[in-house]
Amino acid sequence: MPVVAIVGRPNVGKSTLFNRIIGKRVAIVEDLPGVTRDRNYFEAEHGGRRFLLVDTGGFEPDTPDRLIQQVRDQAQLAIDEAQAVLLVVDGHEGPTGVDVDIASMVRRSGKPLFLAVNKIDSFKREEEGFLSEFHRFGIDRILPVSAEHGRGTEDLLDAVMTALPPAPEPEPVPEALDEEATEEVVEDLAARPIRLAIIGRPNVGKSTLVNQLIGEERFVTSPIAGTTRDPVDAELEHKGRHFILTDTAGIRRKRSIAMRVEAYSVVRALKAAEASDVVVMLLDATEMAVEQDLKIASLAVEQGKPVIVVVNKWDLVAGDAKKAQTFRDDLVWKMPFLAFAPSIFVSALTGAHVKGVLDRAVRLFDQASSRVPTPKLNRLLEDISNHHGLPVVGGQRARVYYIAQVGIRPPTFVVQTNRPDLVPPEYRRYVANKLREVFELEVPLRLVFKRKA
Ligand code: GDP
Repeated sequence: MPVVAIVGRPNVGKSTLFNRIIGKRVAIVEDLPGVTRDRNYFEAEHGGRRFLLVDTGGFEPDTPDRLIQQVRDQAQLAIDEAQAVLLVVDGHEGPTGVDVDIASMVRRSGKPLFLAVNKIDSFKREEEGFLSEFHRFGIDRILPVSAEHGRGTEDLLDAVMTALPPAPEPEPVPEALDEEATEEVVEDLAARPIRLAIIGRPNVGKSTLVNQLIGEERFVTSPIAGTTRDPVDAELEHKGRHFILTDTAGIRRKRSIAMRVEAYSVVRALKAAEASDVVVMLLDATEMAVEQDLKIASLAVEQGKPVIVVVNKWDLVAGDAKKAQTFRDDLVWKMPFLAFAPSIFVSALTGAHVKGVLDRAVRLFDQASSRVPTPKLNRLLEDISNHHGLPVVGGQRARVYYIAQVGIRPPTFVVQTNRPDLVPPEYRRYVANKLREVFELEVPLRLVFKRKA
């Protein structure tokens, strides 16, 4: 997904602009309980294009000298990670040295740059020449906005969209999985390498785990036919299955500033998760899971990726089964949307239980690729209807007729009903949980209620 970064000095209105843009455009698939609304990155949509909007602000400089360095770091991150950079300046104050500095940094990088001149609340102000001062930046794309009042933000987005790659063609949703095609998919599974993204906060042990896995398992050097192989990926084999650990160089190189700005470690994790089949989410046994872990995990689930929760440094807490249970309970309480994901307690340092990560990856990958026969699904739906009727909403009650699986990775189910609007979220969750329970799915799934044609 293309990334659009907002940069600028403190107090120019970056966050206001960010909130203004995401306000109407929240594209979260599902409300995940326990996920905070307070984010500095967001999946947004404009003119049919989806992008990740990132606000790199959120830190206050400690001293005036530090200000320049911090804003420069922020701009460097935007240049490295984003497809378009939105520099926000204050139209009342006029250009400052820092603004000019940042603008030329981005220009030299060749990344598309858009200058949002904020606090231009009326046309009168535009006429008063507030904009002309900024023309010496040498940027063609200068757009007056008022983040506070929403003025000009649509035009700004129209402009930014021109710098993004064209939207991909939407994939047609099949009516039901083709039986024959499915057979092939099942046969191919064992031959297909499983792409693993290892994500987590700095110092949780990502590099240690990667080195341990590569060191223990036979390192496969020959490229696997039919796969694109990035030079930064590492391949390995375990019990006859192939794995590709993605972006291992990024993990081992240790991006210095990138990891210090939280929003960007989230962006990196998001990109890694997007390119993977299974997400390995690392936590540190000696620390409580924090907000950042939660954000990363929720992004993976929103993308429909299977997640293995790997609690690392278990050697340090002399963990036993009881401690593991307590850790797990605490985790599920904090991240209820991960309740279905398996967890494993390992030591990347000593190698204890690390192979279990690969075993679980195979299990989840196969589950996410599996197909439940339609008769079994409909028996379950009938059973649910007999025991758990749909509630009456405003004197009316929806009827459900039929369920089928229409997709894999993630498993996607469609329920036909006369009134999708009368199916409340609790009922949707209930059916999803039943599907997980009965068909032993520890992976995210999509469940769509569709009006019967
Ligand atoms: P990354 O930033 O996530 O890649 O973390 P690193 O792999 O660099 O690990 C950070 C620190 O934690 C290093 O000092 C590691 O030696 C240490 N570490 C990693 N895994 C374990 C573990 O399982 N047990 C212990 N005791 N230390 C670990």
